[in-house]
Amino acid sequence: MKVMKFGGTSVGSPERIKHVARLICDGQRNVVVLSAMSGTTNSLVEITEYLYKGNVPGAQEVVNGLYAKYQKVVAELLETPQWRAIATAAVDRVFSLLRSYYSERLTEAGEKEILAQGELISTALMQCYLSEQGVRSELLPALDFMRTLESGEPDMPHISTRLRRLIDMAPQAELFITQGYICRNDRGGIDNLRRGGSDYTASIIGAVLEADEIQIWTDIDGMHNNDPRYVEGTRPVSSLHFEEAAELAYFGAKILHPACVLPAKLHNIPVRLLNTLEPEAPGTLIHNCEPDGRLKAIAAKDNITAVKIKSGRMLLAYGFLHRVFETFDNYRTGIDMMATSEVGVSVTVDDDSHLAAIVDDLKHFGTVTVERDMVIICVVGDLQWESCRFQARVLEALEDIPVRMISYGGSNYNISVLVRSCDKVKALNALSRKLFD
Ligand code: ADP
Ligand code: ASP
Ligand code: MG
Repeated sequence: MKVMKFGGTSVGSPERIKHVARLICDGQRNVVVLSAMSGTTNSLVEITEYLYKGNVPGAQEVVNGLYAKYQKVVAELLETPQWRAIATAAVDRVFSLLRSYYSERLTEAGEKEILAQGELISTALMQCYLSEQGVRSELLPALDFMRTLESGEPDMPHISTRLRRLIDMAPQAELFITQGYICRNDRGGIDNLRRGGSDYTASIIGAVLEADEIQIWTDIDGMHNNDPRYVEGTRPVSSLHFEEAAELAYFGAKILHPACVLPAKLHNIPVRLLNTLEPEAPGTLIHNCEPDGRLKAIAAKDNITAVKIKSGRMLLAYGFLHRVFETFDNYRTGIDMMATSEVGVSVTVDDDSHLAAIVDDLKHFGTVTVERDMVIICVVGDLQWESCRFQARVLEALEDIPVRMISYGGSNYNISVLVRSCDKVKALNALSRKLFD
């Protein structure tokens, strides 16, 4: 059994939904995870923004536009009056719910419920289409099994028990459809796994069901060796170790949600990245492969802030670093990169929501400087430190670009550098030329 996840573009039109239906019906009782149709989650976010501002006409305009789109999708996707009526009823239920928020003050719980509607519609439409085609598929409601703990981590025992029970209750099913991204939180409220979270859903399901493979189907033929949005001539990487894929996903390779590699890695389930529009292409296999001594790919993580704390005697002063880290910890703010010297320490964060308070507290220990609009560029591969030249080539490639911080040796898999956002595209291209041409 495989877990097959299809992203927004893969189910972005009636034709694409029909195409996906052909890919998933291979007689193997696969679990299929669907995202919302492309653009839908963005529209839902926009609706919540208008509602938070009390701008009901703004929300209405987006809701009406989205409703017209789904009416067209239903008309083009389904042929029989019976299934068109069932699909229309499902779409109408979602839009009545959205419209019911016009008369309410939006809360966080309401926002989460609104954001969940995209996946609920796409799976309902797929289920109608498969039924019309005579396929016995079973819809597994993610809100009945996918749950997170207070920490935000998935509640694996709960997910496993509930999901297995739902599957056992449908012995006749040829395949299973479920929603990516959406879940319940520890209080039972509707929640989500953050933007792009359908990949994470697929990986969690693959892990709890001990699937043969987790397939992430998207609009590109695998993990490329650099970000194709900024660099021309990038190429797919055929094989990545779990750790390499985790570094790339965390440091900005949008093709994978940052958390998605871990459940697969812990259960040693291969993850394959495939292109819906080119199903025969080999894509990228992420697995527990042997080290091969090669550089694999480059990624960039945006919106990074660097914080430098200077103090007279830092490393000599016992407990200094502990106090610095504790300050970030008190505000539940994770640190991405760090560099130390005797007179100061620099760290980077991507979440700056508590930065003012953190900086205020850090001023007890030293002089604090904040630099915004930075980017972490991450070069990933099998970088055993005994093999020379990797680090030299990376720095040579960046000889014309000011580098604010460097991190090497945290793992065998990455070298990260911090540069200004305005130098990002230049740095990505320079690294590609030096390392891959
Ligand atoms: P989906 O909607 O299927 O989840 P995403 O948009 O989240 O798809 O991810 C696929 C996109 O990721 C690609 O279209 C590509 O622009 C972008 N991307 C960024 N970095 C990479 C990379 N290193 N390799 C492949 N795609 C990448
Ligand atoms: N629909 C959600 C999003 O757009 C989740 C996903 O596509 O993975 O972020
Ligand atoms: Mg995605």
